[in-house]
Amino acid sequence: MTNHAPRKQFVSTGPTSRHGLLSVVVPCFNEEQVILFTHGRLEEVLNRCDMPWEIVYADDGSRDGTGDILSAIASQDSRVNVVTLTRNFGHQAAASAGLQFARGDAVAVIDADLQDPPEVILEMIERWRQGVDVAYGRRVSRAGETFFKLFMCRIFYRLLAGASEVPVPLDTGDFRLMDRAVVDAIVSMPEQDRFLRGMVAWVGFRQEAVPYLRDPRLAGESKYPFRKLLKLALDGFISLSQAPVRALWWITGGLATCCLLSLLAAVGGWLAGFPAASDFFMPALIYSAATANAICLTIVGEYTVRAYRQVRGRPLWIVKKTVIAGASSAESSDQTRLGQAA
Ligand code: UDP
Ligand code: MG
Repeated sequence: MTNHAPRKQFVSTGPTSRHGLLSVVVPCFNEEQVILFTHGRLEEVLNRCDMPWEIVYADDGSRDGTGDILSAIASQDSRVNVVTLTRNFGHQAAASAGLQFARGDAVAVIDADLQDPPEVILEMIERWRQGVDVAYGRRVSRAGETFFKLFMCRIFYRLLAGASEVPVPLDTGDFRLMDRAVVDAIVSMPEQDRFLRGMVAWVGFRQEAVPYLRDPRLAGESKYPFRKLLKLALDGFISLSQAPVRALWWITGGLATCCLLSLLAAVGGWLAGFPAASDFFMPALIYSAATANAICLTIVGEYTVRAYRQVRGRPLWIVKKTVIAGASSAESSDQTRLGQAA
């Protein structure tokens, strides 16, 4: 199975029930030290919930005993599913694979290391039942993280919030519960460099924060070295913001103004007979060359942004609800439709 949903002109999920199946997606990479504890705690919490449930473990090409442990758990419990990827594709890809296989009316995503307390899922379900489509975890505190990581994350999320086309909630990860309609929208987005929390922000719907205290990792090491974090930050910034290309317009404008001023000084000074006027000709020449360069870059940038958006293939719109004259109420009420990009 590929990671892409079949592309259709329109996808319709139909009305969703707020009492059906609950899926919990858990991306895992080399988590043999924690996965049994995580499963035990998750199972204990889910058994307290009044919904039938399934867990979808997405094994992201683990090279330790994680795969064997997951197979053993799944062989004893038909509510446990394991999707094993052929190699390590990365957290965002693994979570996306889990989302594609999840069948729930509500789908939660949680890390495998118990940093996100599974108990918070119960609070998220309550919000979902009250009509919230995305209940996302907001980290009030983050124990066990280095000062450097906290500092970088703080800066990144504030920069992203300022530059993003859509409001991105601060201090959130991928720990969240989503309605089926939201999951269908996310699965329909085939973009390669995925930044799930940004994609969820982009799809709209009713979203609310559930504050929680983030625990330290139960055991093992972070699977997000600085290099992977940097790639995630870049994916997030590029997928949500066109600020760099917008900045090119300002740079071009600034250079063009400098060019104009030096030209005015040179020509005006020459007409007025100032001997120093000729000093301004050289800067005017340099600025005009720089402006021509910047204009070319801006044009290329604008085309690139449009090509990127086209290739990314996100839907043009997502319909929450329709009231169509002459349609039956079932047809016209809560149907979620995704408009395909032209
Ligand atoms: N993970 C994954 N693939 C990767 C890296 C991480 O599936 O390439 C999983 C990992 O097993 C965990 C979650 O993604 O369940 C978050 O990773 P981690 O806890 O190491 O990140 P951190 O919390 O340190 O940012
Ligand atoms: Mg973690």
